[in-house]
Amino acid sequence: MLGAPGTGKGTQGRRLAAAGHCPLISTGEILSEAVAQATPLGLEARRQMDAGRLVDDRVMIALVSERLARPDTGEGFVLDGFPRTVPQAEALDTLLAERRQEIESVLYLQVDEDRLVRRLLGRRECPVCMRAYNLEGMAPRDGRHCDDHPTVELRVRADDSEATIRQRFEEYRAKTAPLVEYYEATHRLRRVPGTGPADGVFSALLREAGRVPPVTA
Ligand code: AMP
Repeated sequence: MLGAPGTGKGTQGRRLAAAGHCPLISTGEILSEAVAQATPLGLEARRQMDAGRLVDDRVMIALVSERLARPDTGEGFVLDGFPRTVPQAEALDTLLAERRQEIESVLYLQVDEDRLVRRLLGRRECPVCMRAYNLEGMAPRDGRHCDDHPTVELRVRADDSEATIRQRFEEYRAKTAPLVEYYEATHRLRRVPGTGPADGVFSALLREAGRVPPVTA
């Protein structure tokens, strides 16, 4: 899954993985676990994440390589949030070649930046169950508290402040956007509009991933 912050890569990636009966490998989630467990790597990564910066390539490549070594990845997987830089993409190609696997499709979710900033500013999470909400479209029933924990007030993610959001887009433009060309040059890129109802986006992703035949008249 490729796309700017807030395009829905995580949500849609999870659905794609469920549809393909394969694991979702989300580097954002792997990092959040390391942060929650306060491992040395987690503490270092947290400083970079909270500032809206990318975590070092060396750390990210090692984490993904470790995750791919687990036995559930043999029949394929969906990657969300990796690669985010050209060196990460090159490392992924090498790792996959060693495993005799290859990327089937790079699904590039496209949404304009203004809309994304509004979406990111509206994101909230429940501090108890981590359920995600969005005041723009996926609001909780009473607008403030978790539907499953009615006394718990939702919070803004640490990396969703306005200054951090701006920094994350800068990182995206400088380091991640070049991947569009990287994958286009090798004919692996599939562009999918990321606006409109989530079910429509999901169907378009499945089609582009070659998972269902396109509907013909
Ligand atoms: P995400 O949940 O995918 O938006 O990731 C949250 C944060 O984790 C990002 O803003 C980065 O700081 C860090 N991160 C996740 N994946 C990567 C990656 N592949 N390379 C560098 N940093 C990453």
